[in-house]
Amino acid sequence: MAKPVILAVDDDPDVSRALDRDLRKKYSGQFRILRANSGASALDLLKQLKLRNEPVAFLLTDQRMPQMSGVEFLEHALLLFPDAKRALLTAYADTDAAIRAINTVKIDYYLVKPWDPPEEYLYPVLQDLLDDWLAHYHPPFEGIRVIGHRWSPQSHQVRDFLSRNLTPFQWLDIETNQEVQGLIELAGLDIARLPLVLFPDASSLVQPTNAEIAAKIGLKIHANMPFYDLIIVGSGPAGLAAAVYGASEGLNTVLIEREAPGGQAGTSSRIENYLGFPVGLSGADLARRGVAQARRFGVEILTPQEVASIRVDGPYRLVTLADGGEISCHALLIATGVSYRKLSVPGVEQLTDAGVYYGAAMTEALSCVDSDVFIIGGANSAGQAAMFFSRHARTVTMIVRGDSLGRGMSQYLVDQIQDTANIIVRLCTSVVEVKGESSLDFITLLDAKTGKTETVPATALFIFIGAMPRTDWTAGLLARDEQGFLLSGPDLMPNGQRPKGWLLERDPFLLETNVPGIFVAGDVRHGSIKRVASGVGEGSIAIQFVHRYLSEVV
Ligand SMILES: Cc1cc2nc3c(=O)[nH]c(=O)nc-3n(C[C@H](O)[C@H](O)[C@H](O)COP(=O)(O)OP(=O)(O)OC[C@H]3O[C@@H](n4cnc5c(N)ncnc54)[C@H](O)[C@@H]3O)c2cc1C
Repeated sequence: MAKPVILAVDDDPDVSRALDRDLRKKYSGQFRILRANSGASALDLLKQLKLRNEPVAFLLTDQRMPQMSGVEFLEHALLLFPDAKRALLTAYADTDAAIRAINTVKIDYYLVKPWDPPEEYLYPVLQDLLDDWLAHYHPPFEGIRVIGHRWSPQSHQVRDFLSRNLTPFQWLDIETNQEVQGLIELAGLDIARLPLVLFPDASSLVQPTNAEIAAKIGLKIHANMPFYDLIIVGSGPAGLAAAVYGASEGLNTVLIEREAPGGQAGTSSRIENYLGFPVGLSGADLARRGVAQARRFGVEILTPQEVASIRVDGPYRLVTLADGGEISCHALLIATGVSYRKLSVPGVEQLTDAGVYYGAAMTEALSCVDSDVFIIGGANSAGQAAMFFSRHARTVTMIVRGDSLGRGMSQYLVDQIQDTANIIVRLCTSVVEVKGESSLDFITLLDAKTGKTETVPATALFIFIGAMPRTDWTAGLLARDEQGFLLSGPDLMPNGQRPKGWLLERDPFLLETNVPGIFVAGDVRHGSIKRVASGVGEGSIAIQFVHRYLSEVV
């Protein structure tokens, strides 16, 4: 936590040194003592402090300085740090100016030079004012600040990326936060170009890409080495579990993740059925624990980094990354899960991330306070989201195509939903259109029983309508079912015949694809049980087969 600043301003080097010495002697434990030799340089310093969100407790300035007097300096400083205590250092001749300044810049005190001994003439006054300041002081947020428009898709993406990568930040809405415009001007940036991300070192990024933010917050997107024992693609529960088991058992392992560790599970507000967590845990917590565990065993994690294609070269399996880089390995595990199916109705494309979201988008929770939220879907993920948003929104309406909630949802969630007063469930209903100027304003619902449509006001719509694997990048090499899920083990041999091109004297291992040494685990596997525990289980089992494969080739 940065210490609050006491800034002393004096153009006379001897006085400045003496002030600095006396201030440090008494206050350097609790405060950061800074000094400047002119009003202009002091203002520059204050601007930097403001951009870094560092607190300023006290401004002590000489009145008589060339170019800018102490009173003039305080006038400007007041705009930056209105709560800082202010005192003028004067000679006898300047006491009139000091008294006038009590009214104009509301100085709290004026001290007459010299102040010796400080125990008598400096510290008692300062202590009194500092105590007063401390009594009203709330430490400022010290991390990253994101400034943007509430309904801007780019702002949503930045917030979503930071929160899914477990990076704390403060969100400042340009429309509701008065300080924000001043901050943008201070940074010398254009208010029309948002979102703006301010970092604690006073640097900033304008309309950044995920890769730019990643580089700034220390995420790693390039591999340390060209070759690994094991490459894992995807860091949901399956990929993270495989990474922990692989690395803990001595495999040199790299994990490549397109968005953020945790996968779908990382977006869940509360996972209640994962063994060992009787009161449930949030997906973000699960991801954080998994990442910490993987790192502890030496797993290298590249994120955000996407695998764009794979190829085989003799005993080596090679992945090409979205940025064109290539890394190779003995064994490859694909744990890329599934992504949300898109809702294809008029208006959705334009309003995606501006009121219409795929998945729970937990970063939007505060924007939903006291508003009417809609959720499409009748499975567990939709149910969890409904429970989560019911704590923030005025009402949550679940739009379910089927005629009962129990059909696609665990009973514990059905019970919770029924017991929550502000959740409304509309069965046999679908969304047929969404409308809004710059963000979602209305949705149109179709009641399948009556055939009637109804247009209702809506602030946010969260879509959970099933998911599809994205495995196009494996096409031509790996066997997939009609929906794109990867085939493995016994699923490759429905007639007892080994897959085409398979040259080994053994059958494919369980979880091994039609290419020896390329394995699959979790939701992306054909026939998988789509649960956190089964993903974790498959990820860890896959490592046993990786070892058996490696014993054949290495
Ligand atoms: C909102 C929600 C709530 C849920 N709640 C529960 C619950 O309470 N209990 C439960 O058991 N299950 C729950 N599930 C299901 C559970 O989360 C999934 O079954 C589980 O996450 C699957 O894990 P996975 O590792 O196979 O894949 P995923 O979790 O889908 O992870 C795959 C990862 O691979 C990455 N990826 C994809 N393609 C690439 C590529 N080409 N290059 C690099 N990376 C790539 C993705 O970005 C993703 O991070 C929930 C799902 C959702 C969406």
